Amino acid sequence: TQAHVTAVENARALNAYVLETPELALEAAARSDARLARGEGGPLEGLPLGIKDLFCTRGVRTTACSRILGEFKPTYESTVTANLWRDGAVMLGKLNNDEFAMGSSNETSCFGPVVSPWRRRGSNVHAETGEGIVGQHLVPGGSSGGSAAAVAARLCLGATATDTGGSIRQPAAFTGTVGIKPTYGRCSRWGIVAFASSLDQAGPIARTVRDNAILLRSMAGHDPKDTTSADIPVPDFEAAVGRGVKGLKIGIPKEYRLDGIPAEIEALWQRGAEWLRDAGAEIVEVSLPHTKYALPAYYIVAPAEASSNLARYDGVRYGLRVPAKDVIGLYEETRALGFGREVKRRVMIGTYVLSAGYYDAYYVRAQKIRTLIKRDFEQVYASGVDAILTPATPSAAFGIGEKGSADPVEMYLNDVFTVTVNMAGLPGISVPAGLDSQGLPLGLQLIGRAFDEETLFAAGQVIE
Ligand code: GLN
Repeated sequence: TQAHVTAVENARALNAYVLETPELALEAAARSDARLARGEGGPLEGLPLGIKDLFCTRGVRTTACSRILGEFKPTYESTVTANLWRDGAVMLGKLNNDEFAMGSSNETSCFGPVVSPWRRRGSNVHAETGEGIVGQHLVPGGSSGGSAAAVAARLCLGATATDTGGSIRQPAAFTGTVGIKPTYGRCSRWGIVAFASSLDQAGPIARTVRDNAILLRSMAGHDPKDTTSADIPVPDFEAAVGRGVKGLKIGIPKEYRLDGIPAEIEALWQRGAEWLRDAGAEIVEVSLPHTKYALPAYYIVAPAEASSNLARYDGVRYGLRVPAKDVIGLYEETRALGFGREVKRRVMIGTYVLSAGYYDAYYVRAQKIRTLIKRDFEQVYASGVDAILTPATPSAAFGIGEKGSADPVEMYLNDVFTVTVNMAGLPGISVPAGLDSQGLPLGLQLIGRAFDEETLFAAGQVIE
Protein backbone atom coordinates (compact mmCIF):
# COMPACT_ATOMS: atom_id res chain seq x y z
CA THR A 1 0.00 0.00 0.00
CA GLN A 2 2.77 2.47 0.88
CA ALA A 3 4.46 1.82 -2.48
CA HIS A 4 1.19 2.50 -4.28
CA VAL A 5 0.51 5.66 -2.26
CA THR A 6 3.90 6.98 -3.37
CA ALA A 7 3.32 5.93 -6.98
CA VAL A 8 -0.01 7.79 -7.01
CA GLU A 9 1.65 10.96 -5.66
CA ASN A 10 4.35 10.77 -8.32
CA ALA A 11 1.93 10.33 -11.19
CA ARG A 12 -0.41 13.28 -10.63
CA ALA A 13 0.26 14.51 -14.17
CA LEU A 14 -1.90 11.66 -15.44
CA ASN A 15 -4.88 13.06 -13.48
CA ALA A 16 -6.14 9.52 -12.84
CA TYR A 17 -7.09 10.15 -9.20
CA VAL A 18 -9.47 12.98 -8.33
CA LEU A 19 -9.08 12.29 -4.62
CA GLU A 20 -6.25 10.54 -2.81
CA THR A 21 -6.96 8.98 0.57
CA PRO A 22 -3.49 7.96 1.78
CA GLU A 23 -4.27 8.13 5.53
CA LEU A 24 -7.33 5.92 5.16
CA ALA A 25 -5.36 3.55 2.94
CA LEU A 26 -2.47 3.18 5.37
CA GLU A 27 -4.83 2.67 8.32
CA ALA A 28 -6.75 0.00 6.41
CA ALA A 29 -3.49 -1.64 5.37
CA ALA A 30 -2.35 -1.76 9.00
CA ARG A 31 -5.63 -3.44 9.96
CA SER A 32 -5.08 -5.93 7.12
CA ASP A 33 -1.57 -6.67 8.36
CA ALA A 34 -2.94 -7.30 11.84
CA ARG A 35 -5.58 -9.67 10.52
CA LEU A 36 -3.03 -11.53 8.42
CA ALA A 37 -0.70 -11.78 11.42
CA ARG A 38 -3.53 -13.45 13.35
CA GLY A 39 -3.92 -15.92 10.50
CA GLU A 40 -7.22 -14.29 9.47
CA GLY A 41 -8.04 -12.23 6.44
CA GLY A 42 -10.25 -12.28 3.36
CA PRO A 43 -9.47 -13.13 -0.25
CA LEU A 44 -8.39 -9.54 -1.03
CA GLU A 45 -6.64 -8.81 2.24
CA GLY A 46 -4.39 -5.76 1.94
CA LEU A 47 -4.77 -5.33 -1.83
CA PRO A 48 -4.79 -1.61 -2.76
CA LEU A 49 -7.51 -0.64 -5.23
CA GLY A 50 -8.72 2.53 -6.90
CA ILE A 51 -12.44 3.34 -6.88
CA LYS A 52 -14.22 5.08 -9.74
CA ASP A 53 -15.77 8.28 -8.43
CA LEU A 54 -19.21 6.99 -9.40
CA PHE A 55 -19.25 4.65 -6.39
CA CYS A 56 -20.52 6.20 -3.16
CA THR A 57 -17.95 5.85 -0.41
CA ARG A 58 -19.09 6.66 3.10
CA GLY A 59 -17.60 9.91 4.39
CA VAL A 60 -15.36 10.23 1.32
CA ARG A 61 -16.17 12.81 -1.37
CA THR A 62 -18.06 11.31 -4.29
CA THR A 63 -18.72 13.55 -7.28
CA ALA A 64 -19.30 11.44 -10.43
CA CYS A 65 -16.82 14.08 -11.70
CA SER A 66 -19.64 16.60 -11.94
CA ARG A 67 -19.63 20.09 -10.43
CA ILE A 68 -23.22 19.56 -9.40
CA LEU A 69 -22.23 17.09 -6.69
CA GLY A 70 -19.74 19.60 -5.29
CA GLU A 71 -18.24 18.28 -2.07
CA PHE A 72 -20.93 15.61 -1.59
CA LYS A 73 -19.94 13.09 1.06
CA PRO A 74 -22.28 10.11 1.10
CA THR A 75 -23.48 8.79 4.44
CA TYR A 76 -23.57 5.29 2.94
CA GLU A 77 -21.28 2.89 1.09
CA SER A 78 -22.11 1.28 -2.26
CA THR A 79 -22.73 -2.45 -2.01
CA VAL A 80 -19.93 -3.26 -4.46
CA THR A 81 -17.29 -1.32 -2.51
CA ALA A 82 -18.64 -2.64 0.80
CA ASN A 83 -18.14 -6.15 -0.59
CA LEU A 84 -14.54 -5.32 -1.46
CA TRP A 85 -13.79 -3.94 2.03
CA ARG A 86 -15.46 -7.00 3.59
CA ASP A 87 -12.92 -9.14 1.70
CA GLY A 88 -9.98 -7.04 2.91
CA ALA A 89 -9.27 -4.66 0.01
CA VAL A 90 -7.83 -1.19 0.68
CA MET A 91 -8.94 2.05 -1.04
CA LEU A 92 -6.21 4.31 -2.39
CA GLY A 93 -8.57 7.01 -3.58
CA LYS A 94 -11.27 7.98 -6.07
CA LEU A 95 -10.66 7.74 -9.79
CA ASN A 96 -11.49 10.18 -12.56
CA ASN A 97 -14.28 9.45 -15.05
CA ASP A 98 -16.44 11.17 -17.62
CA GLU A 99 -19.10 13.33 -15.94
CA PHE A 100 -21.87 10.96 -14.81
CA ALA A 101 -20.08 8.31 -16.92
CA MET A 102 -21.19 10.01 -20.15
CA GLY A 103 -18.36 9.77 -22.61
CA SER A 104 -15.78 7.58 -24.29
CA SER A 105 -12.59 9.53 -23.60
CA ASN A 106 -12.72 10.87 -20.03
CA GLU A 107 -12.74 14.39 -21.46
CA THR A 108 -16.13 15.38 -19.99
CA SER A 109 -14.92 15.19 -16.35
CA CYS A 110 -15.13 18.43 -14.37
CA PHE A 111 -11.62 17.58 -13.13
CA GLY A 112 -10.23 17.59 -16.66
CA PRO A 113 -9.05 14.76 -18.88
CA VAL A 114 -6.99 11.77 -17.84
CA VAL A 115 -3.72 11.31 -19.70
CA SER A 116 -3.08 7.75 -20.83
CA PRO A 117 0.30 6.37 -19.75
CA TRP A 118 0.61 5.04 -23.32
CA ARG A 119 2.24 7.07 -26.07
CA ARG A 120 2.42 6.58 -29.80
CA ARG A 121 5.76 5.23 -30.93
CA GLY A 122 8.09 8.15 -31.59
CA SER A 123 5.94 10.62 -29.71
CA ASN A 124 7.92 13.12 -27.66
CA VAL A 125 5.59 13.36 -24.70
CA HIS A 126 7.62 13.00 -21.53
CA ALA A 127 7.12 9.61 -19.95
CA GLU A 128 6.77 10.74 -16.33
CA THR A 129 5.36 14.24 -16.47
CA GLY A 130 3.10 13.80 -19.48
CA GLU A 131 4.39 17.13 -20.80
CA GLY A 132 4.69 17.50 -24.52
CA ILE A 133 2.92 18.63 -27.62
CA VAL A 134 -0.83 18.78 -27.15
CA GLY A 135 -2.52 16.30 -29.43
CA GLN A 136 0.05 13.65 -28.69
CA HIS A 137 -1.35 12.98 -25.27
CA LEU A 138 -3.72 10.07 -25.69
CA VAL A 139 -7.04 9.48 -24.00
CA PRO A 140 -7.30 6.38 -21.82
CA GLY A 141 -10.86 5.84 -23.06
CA GLY A 142 -13.96 6.42 -21.03
CA SER A 143 -15.94 6.71 -19.06
CA SER A 144 -13.75 4.69 -16.68
CA GLY A 145 -10.61 6.45 -17.91
CA GLY A 146 -9.12 6.98 -14.46
CA SER A 147 -9.61 3.31 -13.62
CA ALA A 148 -7.91 2.12 -16.81
CA ALA A 149 -5.04 4.62 -16.63
CA ALA A 150 -4.40 3.88 -12.95
CA VAL A 151 -4.24 0.13 -13.56
CA ALA A 152 -2.05 0.55 -16.67
CA ALA A 153 0.33 2.93 -14.85
CA ARG A 154 0.53 0.62 -11.80
CA LEU A 155 -1.20 3.16 -9.55
CA CYS A 156 -3.34 0.39 -8.03
CA LEU A 157 -3.61 -3.38 -8.33
CA GLY A 158 -7.11 -3.16 -9.72
CA ALA A 159 -9.98 -0.72 -9.96
CA THR A 160 -13.73 -0.62 -9.89
CA ALA A 161 -15.47 0.66 -13.00
CA THR A 162 -18.94 0.86 -14.50
CA ASP A 163 -20.20 0.12 -17.98
CA THR A 164 -23.42 1.46 -19.49
CA GLY A 165 -22.40 1.23 -23.14
CA GLY A 166 -18.75 0.20 -23.03
CA SER A 167 -17.16 2.20 -20.23
CA ILE A 168 -15.26 -0.77 -18.79
CA ARG A 169 -14.33 -2.56 -22.00
CA GLN A 170 -13.32 0.40 -24.18
CA PRO A 171 -10.87 1.97 -21.68
CA ALA A 172 -9.47 -1.49 -20.94
CA ALA A 173 -8.86 -1.96 -24.68
CA PHE A 174 -7.21 1.48 -24.98
CA THR A 175 -4.78 0.84 -22.13
CA GLY A 176 -3.80 -2.81 -22.53
CA THR A 177 -5.72 -3.86 -19.43
CA VAL A 178 -8.51 -6.38 -18.88
CA GLY A 179 -12.06 -5.33 -18.05
CA ILE A 180 -15.27 -7.28 -17.69
CA LYS A 181 -18.82 -5.99 -17.72
CA PRO A 182 -20.72 -8.77 -16.02
CA THR A 183 -24.29 -9.80 -16.78
CA TYR A 184 -26.87 -7.16 -15.87
CA GLY A 185 -27.88 -7.97 -12.30
CA ARG A 186 -24.62 -9.69 -11.33
CA CYS A 187 -23.42 -6.70 -9.27
CA SER A 188 -25.65 -4.53 -7.16
CA ARG A 189 -26.17 -1.00 -8.46
CA TRP A 190 -27.01 0.23 -4.97
CA GLY A 191 -24.90 3.25 -4.06
CA ILE A 192 -23.56 3.77 -7.59
CA VAL A 193 -24.47 7.13 -9.11
CA ALA A 194 -27.08 6.21 -11.74
CA PHE A 195 -26.66 7.03 -15.42
CA ALA A 196 -29.04 4.69 -17.32
CA SER A 197 -30.41 2.23 -14.80
CA SER A 198 -31.42 -0.55 -17.21
CA LEU A 199 -27.92 -0.61 -18.73
CA ASP A 200 -25.52 0.28 -15.86
CA GLN A 201 -23.32 -2.48 -14.45
CA ALA A 202 -20.25 -2.42 -12.24
CA GLY A 203 -17.18 -4.51 -12.94
CA PRO A 204 -13.41 -4.56 -12.45
CA ILE A 205 -10.50 -3.33 -14.55
CA ALA A 206 -7.22 -5.10 -13.73
CA ARG A 207 -4.02 -6.29 -15.36
CA THR A 208 -4.96 -9.89 -16.03
CA VAL A 209 -7.97 -12.10 -16.63
CA ARG A 210 -7.24 -13.88 -13.36
CA ASP A 211 -7.23 -10.60 -11.41
CA ASN A 212 -10.58 -9.73 -13.01
CA ALA A 213 -12.01 -13.07 -11.94
CA ILE A 214 -10.81 -12.62 -8.34
CA LEU A 215 -12.14 -9.06 -8.08
CA LEU A 216 -15.50 -9.82 -9.70
CA ARG A 217 -16.13 -12.63 -7.28
CA SER A 218 -15.88 -10.18 -4.40
CA MET A 219 -17.84 -7.40 -6.09
CA ALA A 220 -20.77 -9.56 -7.24
CA GLY A 221 -23.70 -11.06 -5.39
CA HIS A 222 -27.37 -10.64 -4.68
CA ASP A 223 -28.41 -7.50 -2.84
CA PRO A 224 -31.98 -6.95 -1.66
CA LYS A 225 -31.35 -3.19 -1.86
CA ASP A 226 -31.24 -3.40 -5.69
CA THR A 227 -34.38 -5.03 -7.05
CA THR A 228 -32.64 -5.75 -10.36
CA SER A 229 -29.79 -7.59 -8.68
CA ALA A 230 -29.96 -11.31 -9.46
CA ASP A 231 -30.44 -13.92 -6.77
CA ILE A 232 -28.03 -16.31 -8.47
CA PRO A 233 -25.00 -17.85 -6.73
CA VAL A 234 -21.62 -16.30 -7.58
CA PRO A 235 -19.30 -19.04 -8.83
CA ASP A 236 -15.59 -19.26 -8.10
CA PHE A 237 -14.67 -17.33 -11.24
CA GLU A 238 -10.96 -17.92 -10.71
CA ALA A 239 -11.48 -21.66 -11.12
CA ALA A 240 -12.53 -20.99 -14.73
CA VAL A 241 -9.21 -19.32 -15.57
CA GLY A 242 -7.00 -21.92 -17.20
CA ARG A 243 -9.92 -24.17 -18.11
CA GLY A 244 -9.25 -23.50 -21.79
CA VAL A 245 -11.68 -23.56 -24.69
CA LYS A 246 -11.52 -27.18 -25.84
CA GLY A 247 -14.92 -28.16 -27.24
CA LEU A 248 -16.35 -24.62 -27.07
CA LYS A 249 -18.10 -23.07 -30.05
CA ILE A 250 -17.09 -19.46 -30.65
CA GLY A 251 -19.17 -17.29 -32.98
CA ILE A 252 -17.87 -14.57 -35.29
CA PRO A 253 -20.73 -12.16 -36.09
CA LYS A 254 -20.57 -11.08 -39.71
CA GLU A 255 -22.39 -7.81 -39.03
CA TYR A 256 -19.43 -6.58 -36.98
CA ARG A 257 -17.27 -6.49 -40.13
CA LEU A 258 -17.85 -2.80 -40.60
CA ASP A 259 -16.60 -0.79 -43.54
CA GLY A 260 -13.85 1.53 -42.50
CA ILE A 261 -12.49 -0.30 -39.51
CA PRO A 262 -8.70 -0.40 -39.71
CA ALA A 263 -7.19 -3.45 -41.43
CA GLU A 264 -5.04 -3.95 -38.34
CA ILE A 265 -8.13 -4.51 -36.21
CA GLU A 266 -9.59 -6.93 -38.77
CA ALA A 267 -6.31 -8.84 -38.77
CA LEU A 268 -6.18 -8.98 -35.00
CA TRP A 269 -9.74 -10.28 -34.86
CA GLN A 270 -8.74 -13.01 -37.32
CA ARG A 271 -5.70 -13.87 -35.23
CA GLY A 272 -7.81 -14.05 -32.08
CA ALA A 273 -10.09 -16.56 -33.78
CA GLU A 274 -7.03 -18.59 -34.79
CA TRP A 275 -5.67 -18.62 -31.23
CA LEU A 276 -9.00 -19.95 -29.98
CA ARG A 277 -9.13 -22.55 -32.76
CA ASP A 278 -5.57 -23.67 -32.00
CA ALA A 279 -6.62 -24.08 -28.36
CA GLY A 280 -9.41 -26.44 -29.36
CA ALA A 281 -12.45 -24.24 -29.96
CA GLU A 282 -14.67 -24.52 -32.99
CA ILE A 283 -15.06 -21.21 -34.83
CA VAL A 284 -18.36 -20.56 -36.61
CA GLU A 285 -19.78 -17.58 -38.43
CA VAL A 286 -22.96 -16.24 -36.81
CA SER A 287 -25.45 -13.51 -37.64
CA LEU A 288 -26.76 -10.75 -35.37
CA PRO A 289 -28.91 -9.00 -37.96
CA HIS A 290 -30.06 -6.03 -35.86
CA THR A 291 -26.55 -4.91 -34.90
CA LYS A 292 -26.67 -1.77 -37.02
CA TYR A 293 -29.61 -0.39 -35.03
CA ALA A 294 -27.94 -0.86 -31.65
CA LEU A 295 -25.97 2.39 -31.51
CA PRO A 296 -28.83 4.73 -32.50
CA ALA A 297 -31.20 2.88 -30.16
CA TYR A 298 -28.68 3.10 -27.32
CA TYR A 299 -28.35 6.85 -27.81
CA ILE A 300 -32.10 7.13 -27.27
CA VAL A 301 -32.52 4.73 -24.33
CA ALA A 302 -29.45 5.90 -22.39
CA PRO A 303 -30.22 9.66 -22.55
CA ALA A 304 -33.90 8.98 -21.78
CA GLU A 305 -33.01 7.18 -18.57
CA ALA A 306 -30.31 9.72 -17.79
CA SER A 307 -32.72 12.65 -18.08
CA SER A 308 -34.94 10.95 -15.54
CA ASN A 309 -32.12 9.94 -13.18
CA LEU A 310 -30.54 13.39 -13.25
CA ALA A 311 -33.78 15.14 -12.32
CA ARG A 312 -32.77 14.64 -8.67
CA TYR A 313 -29.95 17.19 -8.91
CA ASP A 314 -32.05 20.18 -8.05
CA GLY A 315 -29.71 22.22 -5.87
CA VAL A 316 -31.55 21.13 -2.74
CA ARG A 317 -30.60 17.55 -2.06
CA TYR A 318 -26.94 17.24 -3.04
CA GLY A 319 -23.74 19.22 -3.37
CA LEU A 320 -23.88 22.43 -5.36
CA ARG A 321 -26.53 25.06 -4.63
CA VAL A 322 -26.69 28.36 -6.51
CA PRO A 323 -29.00 30.73 -4.59
CA ALA A 324 -31.70 32.48 -6.60
CA LYS A 325 -34.87 34.55 -6.10
CA ASP A 326 -37.25 31.61 -6.08
CA VAL A 327 -37.15 27.83 -6.20
CA ILE A 328 -37.41 27.56 -10.00
CA GLY A 329 -34.50 29.96 -10.27
CA LEU A 330 -32.56 27.80 -7.84
CA TYR A 331 -33.10 24.72 -10.01
CA GLU A 332 -32.20 26.57 -13.18
CA GLU A 333 -29.09 28.31 -11.89
CA THR A 334 -27.78 25.20 -10.14
CA ARG A 335 -28.30 22.94 -13.13
CA ALA A 336 -26.94 25.52 -15.58
CA LEU A 337 -23.72 25.86 -13.60
CA GLY A 338 -23.50 22.32 -12.28
CA PHE A 339 -23.85 20.22 -15.42
CA GLY A 340 -21.29 20.15 -18.23
CA ARG A 341 -22.03 20.35 -21.96
CA GLU A 342 -22.32 16.62 -22.66
CA VAL A 343 -24.60 16.04 -19.68
CA LYS A 344 -26.88 18.89 -20.77
CA ARG A 345 -26.96 17.46 -24.28
CA ARG A 346 -28.06 14.08 -22.92
CA VAL A 347 -30.72 15.59 -20.66
CA MET A 348 -32.12 17.52 -23.63
CA ILE A 349 -32.11 14.48 -25.93
CA GLY A 350 -33.63 12.34 -23.20
CA THR A 351 -36.37 14.82 -22.37
CA TYR A 352 -37.17 15.20 -26.06
CA VAL A 353 -37.49 11.48 -26.81
CA LEU A 354 -39.68 10.99 -23.73
CA SER A 355 -41.97 13.94 -24.44
CA ALA A 356 -45.60 13.25 -25.32
CA GLY A 357 -45.39 13.86 -29.06
CA TYR A 358 -42.20 11.89 -29.65
CA TYR A 359 -42.38 9.05 -27.16
CA ASP A 360 -43.79 6.51 -29.65
CA ALA A 361 -41.58 7.59 -32.51
CA TYR A 362 -38.31 7.40 -30.56
CA TYR A 363 -38.42 5.82 -27.14
CA VAL A 364 -40.92 3.02 -27.82
CA ARG A 365 -39.16 2.23 -31.10
CA ALA A 366 -35.78 2.07 -29.43
CA GLN A 367 -37.19 -0.34 -26.86
CA LYS A 368 -38.51 -2.55 -29.65
CA ILE A 369 -35.10 -2.57 -31.27
CA ARG A 370 -33.66 -3.55 -27.94
CA THR A 371 -35.91 -6.62 -27.87
CA LEU A 372 -34.80 -7.57 -31.37
CA ILE A 373 -31.14 -7.23 -30.42
CA LYS A 374 -31.69 -9.45 -27.40
CA ARG A 375 -33.44 -12.01 -29.59
CA ASP A 376 -30.52 -12.02 -32.05
CA PHE A 377 -28.20 -13.11 -29.26
CA GLU A 378 -30.68 -15.66 -27.89
CA GLN A 379 -30.90 -17.31 -31.30
CA VAL A 380 -27.14 -17.54 -31.64
CA TYR A 381 -26.75 -19.05 -28.18
CA ALA A 382 -29.66 -21.43 -28.79
CA SER A 383 -27.72 -22.80 -31.78
CA GLY A 384 -25.02 -24.03 -29.40
CA VAL A 385 -22.58 -21.11 -29.56
CA ASP A 386 -20.83 -20.55 -26.20
CA ALA A 387 -19.34 -17.10 -26.76
CA ILE A 388 -18.93 -14.47 -29.46
CA LEU A 389 -15.64 -12.86 -30.49
CA THR A 390 -15.48 -9.27 -31.77
CA PRO A 391 -13.05 -6.36 -31.68
CA ALA A 392 -13.53 -4.26 -28.53
CA THR A 393 -13.27 -0.91 -30.32
CA PRO A 394 -13.16 0.34 -33.91
CA SER A 395 -9.83 2.14 -33.30
CA ALA A 396 -6.90 2.37 -30.93
CA ALA A 397 -6.70 5.25 -28.43
CA PHE A 398 -6.97 8.70 -30.00
CA GLY A 399 -5.48 12.01 -28.92
CA ILE A 400 -6.94 14.30 -26.27
CA GLY A 401 -9.05 16.89 -28.08
CA GLU A 402 -8.96 14.91 -31.31
CA LYS A 403 -12.51 13.60 -31.47
CA GLY A 404 -16.06 14.78 -30.97
CA SER A 405 -15.61 18.50 -30.39
CA ALA A 406 -17.32 19.47 -33.65
CA ASP A 407 -19.62 16.46 -33.90
CA PRO A 408 -20.56 14.43 -30.81
CA VAL A 409 -21.61 11.49 -33.01
CA GLU A 410 -17.96 11.02 -33.96
CA MET A 411 -17.34 10.14 -30.30
CA TYR A 412 -20.48 8.01 -30.00
CA LEU A 413 -19.30 5.83 -32.91
CA ASN A 414 -16.51 4.52 -30.70
CA ASP A 415 -19.12 2.47 -28.82
CA VAL A 416 -20.27 0.55 -31.88
CA PHE A 417 -18.99 -2.86 -30.69
CA THR A 418 -19.83 -2.51 -27.01
CA VAL A 419 -23.36 -1.07 -26.69
CA THR A 420 -25.12 -4.17 -28.06
CA VAL A 421 -23.93 -6.11 -25.02
CA ASN A 422 -25.55 -3.65 -22.60
CA MET A 423 -28.74 -3.52 -24.64
CA ALA A 424 -28.95 -7.33 -24.33
CA GLY A 425 -27.83 -7.39 -20.67
CA LEU A 426 -25.08 -9.91 -21.45
CA PRO A 427 -21.55 -10.20 -20.03
CA GLY A 428 -18.60 -8.96 -22.10
CA ILE A 429 -14.87 -8.95 -21.47
CA SER A 430 -12.14 -6.96 -23.20
CA VAL A 431 -8.75 -8.59 -23.31
CA PRO A 432 -5.53 -7.03 -24.66
CA ALA A 433 -4.60 -8.87 -27.84
CA GLY A 434 -1.71 -6.96 -29.36
CA LEU A 435 -0.30 -3.60 -30.42
CA ASP A 436 -1.03 -1.65 -33.57
CA SER A 437 1.63 -0.23 -35.89
CA GLN A 438 1.91 2.86 -33.67
CA GLY A 439 2.64 0.68 -30.67
CA LEU A 440 -0.78 1.17 -29.05
CA PRO A 441 -2.80 -1.62 -27.43
CA LEU A 442 -5.82 -3.18 -29.10
CA GLY A 443 -8.43 -5.31 -27.37
CA LEU A 444 -10.67 -8.16 -28.37
CA GLN A 445 -14.11 -8.60 -26.85
CA LEU A 446 -15.78 -11.86 -25.88
CA ILE A 447 -19.54 -11.80 -25.30
CA GLY A 448 -21.10 -14.59 -23.26
CA ARG A 449 -24.44 -16.07 -22.32
CA ALA A 450 -26.28 -14.45 -19.43
CA PHE A 451 -24.58 -15.34 -16.12
CA ASP A 452 -21.83 -17.28 -17.88
CA GLU A 453 -18.88 -15.04 -17.08
CA GLU A 454 -16.87 -18.23 -16.48
CA THR A 455 -16.63 -19.00 -20.21
CA LEU A 456 -15.37 -15.44 -20.78
CA PHE A 457 -12.63 -15.89 -18.19
CA ALA A 458 -11.67 -19.27 -19.68
CA ALA A 459 -11.58 -17.98 -23.27
CA GLY A 460 -10.14 -14.57 -22.34
CA GLN A 461 -7.15 -16.20 -20.72
CA VAL A 462 -6.38 -18.03 -23.99
CA ILE A 463 -6.18 -14.67 -25.79
CA GLU A 464 -4.32 -12.52 -23.23
N1 GLN B 1 -19.64 6.03 -24.25
C1 GLN B 1 -20.96 5.65 -23.87
C2 GLN B 1 -21.75 6.88 -23.49
O1 GLN B 1 -21.20 7.92 -23.54
C3 GLN B 1 -20.93 4.66 -22.75
C4 GLN B 1 -20.59 5.24 -21.45
C5 GLN B 1 -20.66 4.23 -20.35
O2 GLN B 1 -20.61 3.02 -20.58
N2 GLN B 1 -20.83 4.71 -19.13
O3 GLN B 1 -22.90 6.81 -23.18
